Amino acid sequence: MLIEHLNRRLREHEAQALRRHRRTAESPCAPHQRVSGREMLSFCSNDYLGLANHPALIEALAEGARRHGAGSGASHLISGHSCAHVLLEDALARWLSPCIPEARALTFCTGYMANLALLTALGDASATIFADKLNHASLVDGALLAKAPLQRYPHGRLDLLANQLRLCSTPVKLIVTDAVFSMDGDLADLPALLTMAEAHDAWLVIDDAHGFGVLGRHGSGSLSHFGLRSERLIYMGTLGKAAGLGGAFVAAHPIVIDWLVQSARSYIYTTAAPPAIAHAVLASLQLIAGDEGDARRARLAQSIGMLRDGLTTWVQEHRSLGWRLADSATAIQPLIVGDNAAALALAAGLDAQGLWVPAIRPPTVPAGTARLRITLSAAHTPQDVQTLVDGLARAARALR
Ligand SMILES: *Cc1c(COP(=O)(O)O)cnc(C)c1O
Repeated sequence: MLIEHLNRRLREHEAQALRRHRRTAESPCAPHQRVSGREMLSFCSNDYLGLANHPALIEALAEGARRHGAGSGASHLISGHSCAHVLLEDALARWLSPCIPEARALTFCTGYMANLALLTALGDASATIFADKLNHASLVDGALLAKAPLQRYPHGRLDLLANQLRLCSTPVKLIVTDAVFSMDGDLADLPALLTMAEAHDAWLVIDDAHGFGVLGRHGSGSLSHFGLRSERLIYMGTLGKAAGLGGAFVAAHPIVIDWLVQSARSYIYTTAAPPAIAHAVLASLQLIAGDEGDARRARLAQSIGMLRDGLTTWVQEHRSLGWRLADSATAIQPLIVGDNAAALALAAGLDAQGLWVPAIRPPTVPAGTARLRITLSAAHTPQDVQTLVDGLARAARALR
C-alpha cells in the first residue's frame, strides 16, 4: 500500500518535471570537477570564495583531527563541547561584536539546525514570528515548529509588515529574514527592517548564509555591509558556504545565547560537530578576513560583473520567451525561465556541453518561476564565465 502510494506520487513528480536526481562528485568541490564520470565546469556550489578545497583548510582539518580526534563523542551539554568549539565561539563573537554589542556566539552542526533552534527557542507562546515569504526553507520549518503564530509578508513588502506589527499584541515580536535571498540573490533592506524593529519593539533575526564571508568589511557579512549596529540583531551565519567547511552559528545578546543553550532542542539533542571542523573554521576565518580573502572577493566581484554584462543584452533579445536575469548584485545570479520543463531543457542543453547549472523548480521556488540558479565563485576564471555565456546562447538556440 505504502509502496503503491509512493510510486504514484513519484510518477506525479516525474510528469510535472519535478523529479529530483543526485549526481556524484568524484573530485573535490571546484569549478572544474569530475561528476558522475564526466569532466564538468560547474556553476552550482555555494563555495563563493573557493575555499572548500583550499590546501590550508585541508591541512587545518587534518591537524584538528590529530589534535582533537575524529569525533566529538557526545552532545555539547554532555561531553562533546571541546576547546576548539570554545575558541571558535569566541572568534565568531569578536567577529560580530562591531555590529552586535556584547555579542556571544553558539555553533551548530548545520544552518538548518541553527534556524530550527532559534525559531523554536525564541518563538514561544508569548511571541509572534513575522517572516518574508521567500525565506529559506529552514526558517520556514523553524517557524512552523515554533509555538508562536506565524505571519508571512510578501517578499520585501515592509509596508505590509508594518501593518502586521502594528496589529500585533504579543510581548515578543521576531522579524525573520534572509539577508541575501538564496534563490534570487537580492538583499533584504536590513536598515529599514532594523528601524522597523526598533519602532515596534521587535527583534530582527537575520540569516546570512550567503553574506557571511562575502559581503561587508573583510567579508564580515551583511550587517557590516549595511553598517548596522544594534542589540536587537540576532545573527545566523553558515560555515559550509563561503567559509568552505560546514556548520553554522548564532551570534546575539548573551541572554539570547544562554537561552538557546538551555532550550533549543536542535542544539541539545544532537552530537556536537567534530572539533576538527571548528579548528579548521578558525583557519578559514583568518583567510576570509585577510589579504587573501580580499583578493578572492575582488575576483568574485569581477566574475559577477562579467556574467551580468555577458547576459543582459542576450536576455533582452529573448524577452519574448519571458526569461529574465534576476536583479542581483551577489554571487547568486538566477536566470528565471518560468516553466519547469523549459528550465530543465535549458539545464540539459548546458549539461550536454559539460556545463553544470542546476534547474531550480517548485517547491524550492514559487510555481511559474523555475530558473537556472547560476552561482559564481572566486575560483572561476574569466574564461570559465565566458564559456558559460557562450554555452547558454548555444543551449537557448537549440531549444527553438
Ligand atoms: C544553506 C542555507 C541554510 C542552511 O545551512 P546549512 O548549513 O546548509 O544547513 C540556511 N539558510 C539559508 C538562507 C541557506 O542558504
